[in-house]
Amino acid sequence: MNILITGGAGFIGSHLAEYLLKMGEHVQVIDDLSTGSFENISHLKLNRNFSYRIASIENEELLAEMVDVADVIIHLAAAVGVRLIVESPVRTIETNISGTEAVLRAAAKKKKLVFVASTSEVYGKRTNVPFHEDDDLVLGPTSRGRWSYACSKAIDEFLALAYWREKKLPTIVARFFNTVGPRQTGRYGMVVPTFVRQALNNETITVFGDGKQSRCFCHVADVIDAVWKLVKNPQSVGQVFNIGSTEEVTILELANKAKDSVKSRSDIRLIPYDQAYEEGFEDMSRRVPALGKITNLIGYSPRRDLDDILHDVISYERNRAQAQSAGQNRPADATV
Ligand code: UDP
Repeated sequence: MNILITGGAGFIGSHLAEYLLKMGEHVQVIDDLSTGSFENISHLKLNRNFSYRIASIENEELLAEMVDVADVIIHLAAAVGVRLIVESPVRTIETNISGTEAVLRAAAKKKKLVFVASTSEVYGKRTNVPFHEDDDLVLGPTSRGRWSYACSKAIDEFLALAYWREKKLPTIVARFFNTVGPRQTGRYGMVVPTFVRQALNNETITVFGDGKQSRCFCHVADVIDAVWKLVKNPQSVGQVFNIGSTEEVTILELANKAKDSVKSRSDIRLIPYDQAYEEGFEDMSRRVPALGKITNLIGYSPRRDLDDILHDVISYERNRAQAQSAGQNRPADATV
């Protein structure tokens, strides 16, 4: 099969590209490197089954050419990361909505299956966990920038499902819950790489709020495995699925775990949200996926726990630091 991955030079996309190439598939990547990085895919360049274009998915002609030779499109290109959303709301909203429109429009012309990556953010500030795919979404007011991300991804979901219902374009939507692992950058606020780097450098570990908020982190290797199984299962078309883990940890516990795992001398400091992000920032207190739907369809169950995640992120970050001090670009063992 030929698989087109939008955002394929990003954290999740590059792992997926590698995984599919290992399985003998052909992979095309389109990425504008806005949050992705060429380093993530440079080691794939020599693979004969791999091709890439550094361009925006809003380049209609190029996208049409790539869609034409693809059997499936896995649409991961998006503006992600809470910090980016707070700092660049226009870019977030425009990228997420018009980028997905462009991909669906191009795919519809050729009737190619599209997998659309969404996010657990769409559940908003619901408190009754776990979150089921058909639950109501509880979003904050438009005056609070954070919710623009959830809204933009909710529109993407509506659009993908509308293309299926109205135009019979096969689409699948999946909501990723805090996907983490090697290669994720802390640049846009993601907590696991941030804490690991702070701990490794014996810097202050910055816990936002009171640290009692919790998340369920899921290893990227479990996520991409699920993505591919969904793509291959015809019964997933026209449906929405959660992908994540149910191992819940508070952010303060995570900070302590990161610190203990590397025997760090870091201190852990609580930082109020309005200092960390912006005045009136609203965080979610808990976020746990209901996994019954995806488990029933593809037998999904994450195989790696939080200790495995920390182990992999720590060794990636250690190698990255070593490679940087030796003047190389990329650590050798970034694969999962
Ligand atoms: N967080 C933190 N310190 C950081 C970055 C994030 O305490 O340096 C918190 C953040 O406020 C949230 C949780 O960690 O409660 C997860 O943040 P992330 O941005 O990784 O993902 P989110 O679940 O917010 O999408």
